[in-house]
Amino acid sequence: MRKPLPETGTAWEDLKVKMADYASGDIRWREGKTAVYVFNAGPEVERVQKEAYALFMSENGLGPAAFPSLKRMEAEVVGFGLGLLHGPEGAAGSITSGGTDSITMAIKTARDYARKVKGLSGELNIVLPRSAHPAFDKAAAIMEIEVRRTPVKDYLADPAAIAAAADDKTIMIVGSAPSFPYGLIDPIAALSDLAVARDLWLHVDACVGGYIAPFVRMNGADIPPFDFELAGVRSMSADLHKYGYCAKGASTVFFRSAELYQHMVFDFDVWPAGRMTTPTLSGTRPGGATSAAWAVMNFLGVAGYRDKQGQVVAAREKLQAGAEALGFTIIGRPQLGILSYTHTEVDCLAIWTKMRERGWFSSMGTAPRAMHMMISPFHLQVADAYLADLAWALGEVKGPAATVAAEARYS
Ligand SMILES: *Cc1c(COP(=O)(O)O)cnc(C)c1O
Repeated sequence: MRKPLPETGTAWEDLKVKMADYASGDIRWREGKTAVYVFNAGPEVERVQKEAYALFMSENGLGPAAFPSLKRMEAEVVGFGLGLLHGPEGAAGSITSGGTDSITMAIKTARDYARKVKGLSGELNIVLPRSAHPAFDKAAAIMEIEVRRTPVKDYLADPAAIAAAADDKTIMIVGSAPSFPYGLIDPIAALSDLAVARDLWLHVDACVGGYIAPFVRMNGADIPPFDFELAGVRSMSADLHKYGYCAKGASTVFFRSAELYQHMVFDFDVWPAGRMTTPTLSGTRPGGATSAAWAVMNFLGVAGYRDKQGQVVAAREKLQAGAEALGFTIIGRPQLGILSYTHTEVDCLAIWTKMRERGWFSSMGTAPRAMHMMISPFHLQVADAYLADLAWALGEVKGPAATVAAEARYS
């Protein structure tokens, strides 16, 4: 039912009330009720995000000459990311609107590099594990690039399968750190060796891991090499709006060198309004996304991130132990903030439906059917309540009141 634009305006105070009413059916994320979509680092970080966003909300990153402030903030944020991910001297990157944008731009860059530097033409392809994010397929669909998805082995990318699928038209191979479905870090070192041996472009999708793994490692965990310290890694994606706890609309895409980066930039002069140079997919670039990212990163610093990511790991370990105690099986050996667990006797999608009745919202796995959580620092405070409801849900599903399984879709 279409509502026309109101003939007259409404007072902001009244609109605020209306919006709160619209939000009444939304998931109660501030109470820790969702383990997907929102990364809840607590009210202090939320305040910094909001106020920093508002300060530069009207400014436009499309115009670095007009807004040297945003240019400077972007350069500093990119520098922070490259510093955390072992970017070598000369490495370069940009802030993008999100992980999908970062991945799209990495593929575009790899494609243009393949065409211009390696002389490739015709039907090009990218090779990725089954567990890689759909953003690769979306970007490939737009650019008419073939996607070859290879089977996973023990829930991880299989370098041998990727090696077998790659050929002389392959412009990129992919590993995730970690993958979204399983939350596990693919064997990036082996993929890097393959990339070096065959001169392939390895992209590491660290959208959900790039801003947590370095701090979990600093906290003492044995995180394997997954970033630019491996010679075969040419590009990476890392989302600021996930475990960077920045406002939404902010990710980073990185390249090993400025020579590679230059293939991303779109430089255009054939229209009657002068030369326009844009690094990413966007024209207009929201200043607020950049200023909020800059502010949150400076607000937290290494110590703040180590603390928040320590809470994520503590919450994950608690949930993991609790789920195991209830008879669930953890998928692989998670080290970061994603936890996926399955059950041999009950249907996890039925469990998911029951948990939904108690207000919990998470994503799910389909191969195997599994519960899936992206854990936030705030979840440490509600882990016990979650586990109590999980025990209840298990009892319901095992008992005669079992419900029909939900469908695995999010939209
Ligand atoms: C979230 C995610 C993406 C896509 O990021 P968006 O910001 O949602 O576009 C890509 N890869 C992985 C592993 C992710 O977790």
